[in-house]
Amino acid sequence: MIKCKLCNTKNADKKGSHIVPHFLLKRIENIEGKTERDYELGFTIEKLNSKPHFGRSVQPEELEETFGEISDEDIEKNKHPLIVDNFFCKDCENRFALIESEYAKTIEKKDTSDYESGVSSNVGILFWASVIWRISINGESGVKLTPEQNEKLRQILDCFLPSKLEEIDEKGIKENGLIKSISYKLLRCIDCKDDDAKWLIFHPEFYNPLCLLIDEYVLCFCFDDNFEDIENKDCLGINEKIKQAPINKADSREIIKPFDNVTYKQMASIIVEKAKDVYLEGLYEFFDNIHVAAGGTGNKMPSEIKAEILAELTSDEKKIGRKYTQEDIKNSTMKIMKKYAP
Ligand SMILES: [Zn+2]
Repeated sequence: MIKCKLCNTKNADKKGSHIVPHFLLKRIENIEGKTERDYELGFTIEKLNSKPHFGRSVQPEELEETFGEISDEDIEKNKHPLIVDNFFCKDCENRFALIESEYAKTIEKKDTSDYESGVSSNVGILFWASVIWRISINGESGVKLTPEQNEKLRQILDCFLPSKLEEIDEKGIKENGLIKSISYKLLRCIDCKDDDAKWLIFHPEFYNPLCLLIDEYVLCFCFDDNFEDIENKDCLGINEKIKQAPINKADSREIIKPFDNVTYKQMASIIVEKAKDVYLEGLYEFFDNIHVAAGGTGNKMPSEIKAEILAELTSDEKKIGRKYTQEDIKNSTMKIMKKYAP
């Protein structure tokens, strides 16, 4: 049996481990239920081109049926990208759950100026390190932690995630060299509406710090106090706010910098623009796969057919600049491909 990725000693017998803490995932997915496009845009852009399950023998007239099989529900059932089996042992899973439930207590507290979240920065470091590390080792979100950074976080988490909260080793944390090298800034939109799109992405251009957008939070997490990317790369238009945000280090109280919904909406529109390019790439690959599966010549769908499907997709004016549902893509693709079917 595979060993647990955290302790490296016990068997990884836990099924259904959440890569993202449930209390955050729930908030993101509640939104998904309403406008699932936003969630997909934010995180699982690769969904579409990952595995459209049809082989070479599929005939054009069967495509509709085959397409019917890749409903959102099926994809969810098939493999939720953020829920995994056999990553961790039950003990380590419980250690994650413990720090999460402690951190979840901060969610209700908000203020309009920099405020204490209600937990120590030690709990904050363990919590946020556990989120970043799990997303990183899951490897489906484009996060670029180096193997050394992954191992650093693993050691910190394995050493200091307690089995009981009263067992948290404050003294050990204070003296630990690895933890001393970690710092983070945390910003939060404090007046997000329930139906605002929520995100779960790493900014692809940020290494120092790593910049994670999760739910209504922006986390800038770094090793060796290196925040230099904030100085010279655009971070969704909120660089100044990030610069002003206090740095959290071990052995203190966690401080959060709040920002407003107008800023949040501006960030969202920048994300949509960036994601459109990535999304289009995925869509083209998807079209190519269908083209091949349908027995088309060569391994690429002719660009004029792609253009026609895209035109069909965007023919509904309301949807311009937005991502389309699986249903939209299915219908538009079928409509155009039927025209070309022999
Ligand atoms: Zn373990």
